[in-house]
Amino acid sequence: MKFNTKLIHGGNSEDITTGAVSIPIYRASTFHQKELGKNPKWEYSRTGNPTRNALEKLMGELENGIAGFAFSSGSAAIHAVFSMYSAGDHFVVGSDVYGGTFRLINKVLKRFGLEFTVVDMQDLNAIENAINNKTVAIYFETPTNPLLQIADIEEIAAIAKRHKIKTIVDNTFATPYNQKPLNLGADVVIHSATKYLGGHSDVVAGIAVTSDEQIAKKIAFLQNAIGSTLGPDDSWLLQRGIKTLGARMRVHHENAEAVVNFLSTDKRIARIFYPGLESSQGHKVAAKQMQHFGAMISFELQAGLDTKKFVESLEIIDLAESLGGIESLIEVPAVMTHGSIPRDIRLKNGISDELIRLSVGLEDAEDIITDLKQGLDQLN
Ligand SMILES: *Cc1c(COP(=O)(O)O)cnc(C)c1O
Repeated sequence: MKFNTKLIHGGNSEDITTGAVSIPIYRASTFHQKELGKNPKWEYSRTGNPTRNALEKLMGELENGIAGFAFSSGSAAIHAVFSMYSAGDHFVVGSDVYGGTFRLINKVLKRFGLEFTVVDMQDLNAIENAINNKTVAIYFETPTNPLLQIADIEEIAAIAKRHKIKTIVDNTFATPYNQKPLNLGADVVIHSATKYLGGHSDVVAGIAVTSDEQIAKKIAFLQNAIGSTLGPDDSWLLQRGIKTLGARMRVHHENAEAVVNFLSTDKRIARIFYPGLESSQGHKVAAKQMQHFGAMISFELQAGLDTKKFVESLEIIDLAESLGGIESLIEVPAVMTHGSIPRDIRLKNGISDELIRLSVGLEDAEDIITDLKQGLDQLN
């Protein structure tokens, strides 16, 4: 089965008892056991639920892993994956990561004794130099949130293999439609499924997929032990969203190209961050490892133009956190999604106070561009 067919027919796409083409929502918390102590397939919904299981199987297949796991949020998935490790274990982690991941690492995981070295993932030498004898894994996003930097998954996974450590990739921005990290040598893929996988800004969820038998056992254990699992209603909603991932990503991409073309020619735009631009640092690697460049664009206005007034003046594009939904969403990372990162670290990593992040939605590209234009016109 090819990818777009898998989106619709992969996993347990049908109910085995009735043949219903949409998997039923099994709201039961517990399941009747015919015999005592016989390890039934379904026993308790934290441990396993048929609706969640259908989604997990599907995600495992879409990322070409051996097992998928669904969590109550992307953050919960990241937490569960880091929970495989113990105090004293060291990680090399990308300098540009989602603000909540930065917060989880610095305010939670460090208290439990995990150690981190932050590195620019575009610099392979720096990654290798940061590895020490306690390093257990390299953790990064590509494209990154919000600077759209590109890390070379294949090269980084090769470094990790040489040092007998693991590679963990947050694939939220690309989705398996655009990029399959496990095919490139990564061991674990993480998603905030709240974004493109769900795709409709109506569910908060997280996914982890692995190609490694040992890791699959550990995550299955931790998912049940920690208990941050995705409920059956949200599991169903997420699987419903995933069915149209291919169709949505094609239009997201088409619209993003049109928006980038507009921004590139408007004199009021100072800088654009988009891996599809040939002039961008990550273009070559992105072209190698991604099918398309996605629909996340960051940019800065010319000095002196009022960023706040611009984002507030938009009429179709929503000023809101999150991304990857059908509606175009715009935000200012310094104030919103990355506000939990101290200003000095944020600036050092390249996230200016004026940086704007745009998630290009599925509206008519012309309307998105007209809205951006009228917002910019109000600044003169
Ligand atoms: C949103 C996001 C997360 C966190 O996911 P939640 O579902 O909001 O908990 C993690 N990584 C990236 C890249 C994100 O954009």
